Amino acid sequence: MRSFLTVAAVAGMVATVAIPAFAAADRGDAAQARTLQQVSADDAQSLVVASEGSPATLERGGYSATTPEEIEKAKAKEAAEKAAKAALAARLAASSKARTSSSDSSSSSGSSSSFSSDVPLVSPGSGTVRRPLAHFDNFGRPYAGHKGTDYMVGRGEPIYAVADGTVVASSESGPGWGVYVKIAHNIGGVRVTSLYAHMNWGTRRVSVGDTVSVGQLIGQVGDTGRANGTHLHLEIRINNGYTNAESWLQANAG
Ligand SMILES: [Zn+2]
Repeated sequence: MRSFLTVAAVAGMVATVAIPAFAAADRGDAAQARTLQQVSADDAQSLVVASEGSPATLERGGYSATTPEEIEKAKAKEAAEKAAKAALAARLAASSKARTSSSDSSSSSGSSSSFSSDVPLVSPGSGTVRRPLAHFDNFGRPYAGHKGTDYMVGRGEPIYAVADGTVVASSESGPGWGVYVKIAHNIGGVRVTSLYAHMNWGTRRVSVGDTVSVGQLIGQVGDTGRANGTHLHLEIRINNGYTNAESWLQANAG
């Protein structure tokens, strides 16, 4: 019984350490993710657990092992996992570079070139202004000093440009925004900027200077930067003054 528990604990740990590589390397590609799990876990049960786990759970994860022997075992297993992950990450980086370089040079900036390819490139709907999300659950509660609207939506949801424009910022290290994109628009002669924050790592599809069309895929929802949970933080400025993003969308989005 005790040895079974130890195996279970180690298997659980394998599952939790396997996910970050999965997340960083290529979250959306089931085939590659499966390969990763096969490389890093020899236990079919933990393979299923790992593929269904959410990244949020691994931050809370710890070792179930308690005795020095168990901890040593867990550490050795973890080291083996790290080596396997590094090898796989290198392979994925090489293949993803080859995949993106021919079609979209703007998206292949180092490690940020790995993202799922099964996301619609254009948002539903029509009009000069469109919503940045195909759907969302609800708004976040406003608070003092908060200049945007928070849309509660799951990790990986595609984010689309709200209007035609030019990318003026695209970074993985925004102040509080984490991974974010900012686009400048000319809408009926009025200068409008839209800012999309807390994107998932490696999901930006645009670089500074890129021209984007309304409804064009620019990134995917995450929780980078100062964020408690996955959501899109959207800021709209008109002639450099903040406006209520949701009110603006309700008035303008087609
Ligand atoms: Zn916000």
